[in-house]
Amino acid sequence: PAHVDSTPAPVIRAPRGSTRTAKGWIQEAAKRMLMNNLDPEVAEHPEDLIVYGGRGKAARDWPSFHKIVEVLDRLENDQTLLVQSGKPVAVLNTHTLAPRVLIANSNLVPHWANWETFDKLDQAGLMMYGQMTAGSWIYIGTQGILQGTYETFAGAAAKHFGGTLEGTVTVTAGLGGMGGAQPLAVKLAGGVCICIDIDPSRIQKRLDTRYLDTVAANLDEALALAASAKAEGRALSIGLLGNAADLVPELVRRNFTPDLITDQTSAHDPMWGYLPKADADEDVNELRRSQPDLYLSRARQAMAGHVRAIIELQRRGAVAFDYGNNLREQARLGGVEDAFSYPGFVPAFIRDSFCEGRGPFRWVALSGDPADIYATDKALLELFPHDKRLQSWLTYAADQIAFQGLPARICWLGYRERDLAAKLFNEMVADGRLSAPIVIGRDHLDAGSVASPYRETEAMLDGSDAVSDWPLLNFATGVASGAGWMSFHHGGGVGMGYSQHSGLVAVADGSEEAAWRLSRCLTNDPAMGVIRHADAGYELARDVARERGLDLPSLGI
Ligand code: NAD
Repeated sequence: PAHVDSTPAPVIRAPRGSTRTAKGWIQEAAKRMLMNNLDPEVAEHPEDLIVYGGRGKAARDWPSFHKIVEVLDRLENDQTLLVQSGKPVAVLNTHTLAPRVLIANSNLVPHWANWETFDKLDQAGLMMYGQMTAGSWIYIGTQGILQGTYETFAGAAAKHFGGTLEGTVTVTAGLGGMGGAQPLAVKLAGGVCICIDIDPSRIQKRLDTRYLDTVAANLDEALALAASAKAEGRALSIGLLGNAADLVPELVRRNFTPDLITDQTSAHDPMWGYLPKADADEDVNELRRSQPDLYLSRARQAMAGHVRAIIELQRRGAVAFDYGNNLREQARLGGVEDAFSYPGFVPAFIRDSFCEGRGPFRWVALSGDPADIYATDKALLELFPHDKRLQSWLTYAADQIAFQGLPARICWLGYRERDLAAKLFNEMVADGRLSAPIVIGRDHLDAGSVASPYRETEAMLDGSDAVSDWPLLNFATGVASGAGWMSFHHGGGVGMGYSQHSGLVAVADGSEEAAWRLSRCLTNDPAMGVIRHADAGYELARDVARERGLDLPSLGI
């Protein structure tokens, strides 16, 4: 843990309102967003500076945190702060339109890009794990996960079920931090969802927070509830206690084939994240402690059985997809040669969006006033009246989403849409419709910002899955195009050695300079998604490039 001495860790909450102590709004925004990432309402373990995603941190240690805050308050409007894995290492004289902060987190030379090397450096105090939006100061809590999960299930609905999951049954497992968004996302897309989890407390938590409607006493009851809701075309989410490695193969035995099947247990971490099958009186925690090798092989055996069942359900007609948790790879290690028979969620449902530069666009009200976010919701509904998915998400979100920390919103927008939204927000700050500046950013999981062969860049048309020139170009493009702060990270989402990605944040403070910055960086950043996919051979991306006026010399566009 970062906090090892006996003084209690400070409780952090970002300042609110339209008065700043920093010398410019970008510096003030960076400071408030760093603090907001560590707000107890937002962060998983703020006392250890951990924001989300296992060990994803906002700053390397408490002295680094305090130093960053101090520097941001004195940073001039022609200077840039450099942050190396969560530690502020230098202030440089740059120029007014440069980013105010440049961040690099968890990067290792490829030959050493593994957890062993990282852990040694981390323990020596030389690095930190930045995840995606933890170390780049633009995490907004569970709303981002719910919206991304909704986007995936809505994508599945569009591709396979005529635009709605009404009258379909989805089976999945894992009701944890991220997986817990699945039942609500399936419901939002109109469908019925059976969600298996082995931990009753996870099921209870999702019931308490209304992410889950009901819990079934056993598989029979779950299937009966699902069948009647499906027949009535009613959306419903059903929790089911048990081990997915028992229950999914049981569906095969009973000849029940769901319409959609996926999984979000923490299979990426076989020692801690996926429980093996066990007898009722067996203590698997004790097994893990006393015989870790045996435990690991039993976890992989269980995942092998689980994946074999998914493949069989797919053969029988279910739409199967992997939800970015590396379950297929663990099953392959457990002996399933054809584990990769079904696709990851990006090639299955998201890639078309990426071809249009569509991805998670998010914004935060520095005023702290929810009214500012509701005003932006309304403005976007009017700006994009024909985007049905956006209309239904924003309407739902405005009504139902509880804010965590500074009020924030997320929705997916594409190339030549994000710059329009940003322009509008900037005008609303300038004319007083919003009471303070707005921070605009995105996840690193985006159209042109990440190389991650088991997730965002799985199965690229030209086989360029592992080429990470693209996120590097994305990082540099943001720097050249007026972003407020930019970051480049390694290992987010899928772990060390498996991904490289970049992040962008900009600030709408109502000024002409902000208008200049926003129009460039929020055009060029999503353009990278179109460019990357056009280059890889996607016709949709090439059409978008032609229609929306990109200049791509190697493609004659
Ligand atoms: P988590 O650790 O909070 O939750 C995992 C859940 O799985 C727990 O509730 C646990 O009880 C349950 N579980 C473990 N073994 C089980 C078994 N054998 N049967 C039934 N339930 C079992 O993790 P999380 O934050 O919800 O994330 C889940 C996984 O999904 C991670 O691997 C994460 O990386 C991945 N993920 C990927 C994406 C993406 O690609 N966009 C998005 C979200 C999550």
